[in-house]
This record gives sequence, structure tokens and C-alpha cells, in this order.
Amino acid sequence: MDKLKLTGKKKIIKVRDLEIGGEKPIFIAGPCSIESEEHIIDEANNLKKIGVDILRGGVFKPRTSPYDFQGLGYEGLEYFKKAADNVNLPIITEVLSEDDIEKMIDYVDIFQVGSRNMYNYSLLKKLGKTNKPVLLKRGFSATIKEWTMAAEYIAMGGNEDIILCERGIRAFNDYTRNTLDLAGALVAKNLTGLPVIVDPSHGTGRRELIGPMTDAAIACGLDGVIIETHRNPDTALSDGEQTITYSDYEKIRGKYL
Ligand code: PEP
Ligand code: MN
Repeated sequence: MDKLKLTGKKKIIKVRDLEIGGEKPIFIAGPCSIESEEHIIDEANNLKKIGVDILRGGVFKPRTSPYDFQGLGYEGLEYFKKAADNVNLPIITEVLSEDDIEKMIDYVDIFQVGSRNMYNYSLLKKLGKTNKPVLLKRGFSATIKEWTMAAEYIAMGGNEDIILCERGIRAFNDYTRNTLDLAGALVAKNLTGLPVIVDPSHGTGRRELIGPMTDAAIACGLDGVIIETHRNPDTALSDGEQTITYSDYEKIRGKYL
């Protein structure tokens, strides 16, 4: 018999003055990858004006090809923290390896566990021993049980500040990059009680679907979105095809301000 920690009791996670899983949907936005100091300063300043709750930005990038841009690493993390502090915003970034947790912990407000690492139980266990919230993305082939049990691996260590993120699963369809499973996201929310947000960028891979899928996620009671933005998406070093401009983001965000 499993003795679960996450049993469906509604949980609100506090990050500075934000409540994730509370009344208002949370908007996380920023570039897939941080490309330079000047780039992330521009993103932070512009998104702050439009309305963003938390800044996202990748510095360790799990790319399909090892020859593609892998991120700026710790140098990028320094730029990210400085740019976000200037506009007083919390940050989230992906941690790829358990060896990096200690070095990253003073920089990040939320650790992101990516889809490819959802099954990395030693990483999850170590994050369970920290006092930082963790955004746990669904593995792209994970069942709801595998996803919620991955959350248990974190909770087991004492850290129950977990936000789940539905980012699309792999199906037969090749029109969208992934298949966004909103029903599965709601099931995971009801089963665990954790806040669940949606990533319409990776979930669809298509710019024109990001607004409608944001609306759909919020309409069905999910707790927010994480969206990839860039000042010039066509030149982005990763995921440009699913990345939107500041002005497109402003239109989506504006509906919920
Ligand atoms: C990302 O957020 O840039 C990312 C790599 O996401 P995922 O782990 O969902 O592919
Ligand atoms: Mn990306």
C-alpha cells in the first residue's frame, strides 16, 4: 500500500508575494535560452512592463542534438539573476544535474525539472531535500501515475512545494510538436492537490496556438502558464518556432490583468 504525501489536499505555493495555485492564474514568460547579458536585460525590462509574475530563461539546455546551443551555463545564470533583480522579479530555470543544485540554489526562486528528467529519481530526491519550490514538467511519454509519483519522489524528502507542468505528450499526430493533455493536467491537479500550470509553447510547438491554449488552460481551472518569448523569435537560438513576440504576449496577458 502506498503511503502518499500528495493526497489531493489543495496546496498554494508562495513565491515572494505570489500565490501559485491561488485565485489568480500565474504567468511565467521569457526566452527558451538566455543568449547574452544584453538579451536577458531586454527581456526582463520588456516583460516587466507588460506584466509577468515570474521570468523563465534556460541556461542549461537539454537539446535533442548535442551540437545545438547548450546554453550559457553559470555565466548565463549570473546575467539572469542580475537582470531579474533589476526589475524585482523571481526567476525559474532548469536544473539538469543533481551536482548543480547547491551552486544554483542561491540564484533561483524555483527549480525547473524538464520533461527529459522527470524520471531522474536521484535528481528528484535531492530536490526534495531543498527548501526551494520545484516545477516538475511531465515527461513526454509519462502516464499520470508516473508523473504524480515523480512528484512524490520530491515530496518524500520533505519539500512539498511542487508545481506540476503539463507540456504536451507524444502521440501519433505530427502537426503539433506534442499533444497538450489538458484533461490529464486536471486529473493530476485533483489527485495531488498541487498547482498545475500549462506550457503551451512546448505543448504545441506553434506560435498561433499559444493564445488559445492559454485561454483553454485557464478556462478549465488550471493555475497558469509558462510561455516562451523573444524580442525576435525568428533569430532565437532555441525553439524560435514556438516563441512569441513581446506584443503577442502582451495581448494574451492583457486579458487576465
Ligand atoms: C524548456 O522549458 O525550455 C524545456 C526544455 O522544456 P521541456 O523540458 O518541457 O522540453
Ligand atoms: Mn524551449
